[in-house]
Formats: sequence, C-alpha cells, structure tokens
Amino acid sequence: MKILVSNDDGYRAEGIRRLRAALATLADVTVVAPDRNKSGASNSLTLDVPLRVFEAEPGVYFVPGTPTDCVHLAISGLFDFEHDMVVSGVNDGPNLGDDVLYSGTVAAAIEGRFLGLPTLAISLCTTGTGGGHFETGAQVGRLLVAQLLQRPLEPSLILNVNVPNVPFAELRGFRASRLGYRHRSEPVMRAQDPRGRPVYWVGPAGPEQEAGPGTDFDTVARGYVSVTPLQVDLTRHAVLPALATWLDGMNA
Ligand code: MN
Repeated sequence: MKILVSNDDGYRAEGIRRLRAALATLADVTVVAPDRNKSGASNSLTLDVPLRVFEAEPGVYFVPGTPTDCVHLAISGLFDFEHDMVVSGVNDGPNLGDDVLYSGTVAAAIEGRFLGLPTLAISLCTTGTGGGHFETGAQVGRLLVAQLLQRPLEPSLILNVNVPNVPFAELRGFRASRLGYRHRSEPVMRAQDPRGRPVYWVGPAGPEQEAGPGTDFDTVARGYVSVTPLQVDLTRHAVLPALATWLDGMNA
C-alpha cells in the first residue's frame, strides 16, 4: 500500500508533517508538495517552464510549482512505482462550499482520481487567528484511510473532508454532507505601491449563504467531521433537456 501525500500549504507546513506521520502507520508514504504556500492555486498546471523536483529528506520531495503539478508529476513518471491513493492536507483552513473551486488542497486530491482508491482532501477549520489542532486532522485522515482499506468505496471518488478545529477527543463523529454555498466574496482591497500606483488584494471569501442542515458548513459547526463526495462532472444534468429544446429553436 503506497500513499502519495500532498497539500497546498507547502511541504514544511505542520498539517502535512502530521498527516505523513499518521499515515505512515498504515502504508508507505511519499510526500510531493509545493515548495511554498500555494493556497488558492486550484487545478492549475505549470506549462511555461520546466518543473524541478528537490528531495528534502528521504521520501519528502518539494517542487516549485502548484499542488496539481506535484501530484501530476508524482503519478505520471517521477517514480518507478505506482501509488494506490492520494491524500491531501491537512490544510490550514476550511474548504467548505464554493471554496472547493479555488482550493489547491482539493485540487491535489482531484489530480489523484485515476489511482486505485478514492482520494481524500483534508482541511482543518482554523480561523486564521493562530493555533490549529493539526493532529486531529491527521488522525481523521488515518481513520478514513483505514476504513477505506477495510470497506472500499468506488474508485475515482473524491472525498472532501473538513475537520472541526478541536482536540480529537472532542469530535462528535463523522457525517456525510453536501456542499453549501457562500455569499459573493468581499470586495478587493485597493492600496498603493511605493510609487503611487494602485494595487489590489483579493478579499476574503464571503460568509456562508446556504449552510442549512445537511451542508458541510452545518456539519462542522455542530462538531462533526464533514465528508462530502465530489465528482469532476460539472454538467448541470437537470438543464440538458431544456437547453436542447432552446438550441433547437436556433436550428430552425
Ligand atoms: Mn492551504
């Protein structure tokens, strides 16, 4: 059993170090992760410059690139063996609702979807004010991988896991959930560079808008580990028949 571990916070982040240690009790773990914080990188690939891989210590590699670069490299030729699954995290911050569109943590997991086992993206719901129970996230990852080995789920499934930022003993359990929605983001922040030119900072994500029962937001707020099954198919299937009719009007 070989597990590839990646993240978007960089290979030195506490979350990935604890995750690696926790999973090493179950499998052979290889880390391939960005050289620095690449949060918000989504599923981007670096195509304009070559990628270089550096070994920080045996079994830990870092890449000046995106999370998707890291996993793509790792499962497409960097090694002379195949991995069985990808586990991404433990991210410093939640990936709830619309966050999954921007998340490098989720992207790293998505990039591993063609391997034999479902992939996991694990995020700890820290608030940015310092202090994270990353060990809780790491143990949640270990328990989910152990459960997958005992009771396999379908391959190419992507599990988006959000963990309340509490000591492990205070978790109330595991719950399946759906993605909620956020309100529109806060406006960009305008500032000036030293030469008086305008610069802009992307503002924080918006507050939750749809966070009712069954959503990932609500599940975490009630103290449970939220596990959301994701798929890559973004097709809005319910609209297909109406769209076909609408397009027929253009064929007349
Ligand atoms: Mn991150």
